[in-house]
Amino acid sequence: MAKIKRFTTADGGYHGELGFYCPGCDSIHFINDEETKVQGMPVWEFNKDFNHPTVRASVMLTRPGYVCHSFITDGKIQFLSDCTHHLAGQTVDLNDI
Ligand SMILES: [Zn+2]
Repeated sequence: MAKIKRFTTADGGYHGELGFYCPGCDSIHFINDEETKVQGMPVWEFNKDFNHPTVRASVMLTRPGYVCHSFITDGKIQFLSDCTHHLAGQTVDLNDI
């Protein structure tokens, strides 16, 4: 089963954002790779393996008072110690999406 997949965005255009379910935030995070059709957005390296994804660089989401910072490697998500949620410092399997 896929642990990361391409999404069509809410504006109806196919941009191909990569989305994965983050168990730390209980929500889906989106990133772009070189196939994503959005100009001017940061680009992550993706190994093209939707079942065992590896993504670089790290994925970081910040809001006032909240941080989610992770590395995705071979289908697992490693939460760095600067996360403010309950999975800080832990590495867990990504859920199917
Ligand atoms: Zn998260």
